[in-house]
Amino acid sequence: MSGCCSACGEECGDLISLGFTQVCRYCFRETCLEEPLLEDFGPDFLERQGADFFLSWWWGGDAYLTEEEKLEAVKSIFAKREKRFPEEARTARREYIREVFPEWEDYLRGR
Ligand SMILES: [Zn+2]
Repeated sequence: MSGCCSACGEECGDLISLGFTQVCRYCFRETCLEEPLLEDFGPDFLERQGADFFLSWWWGGDAYLTEEEKLEAVKSIFAKREKRFPEEARTARREYIREVFPEWEDYLRGR
């Protein structure tokens, strides 16, 4: 496609379509990271990237999720799974309690 690049205005023989605009290959890289494009196409792209995006966000460091947020997320996943697989949840509790048995005993004594 030929015409004028919407970023630099130069006449160009092989414009690349980017959403509603067309840019030359020199402007392509920069334009790719501009906010309106990220906003319009980012969520769909990242949904397609799936685990790669969401797990890198999750494990990206403390800057992304606080320990409280991670705990909140994992608790809600546990509760959902418990409804589907109650035996799995019971086993998980029992095994954990075995691992921290002294704390469990102290806790029970305090009841
Ligand atoms: Zn250009």
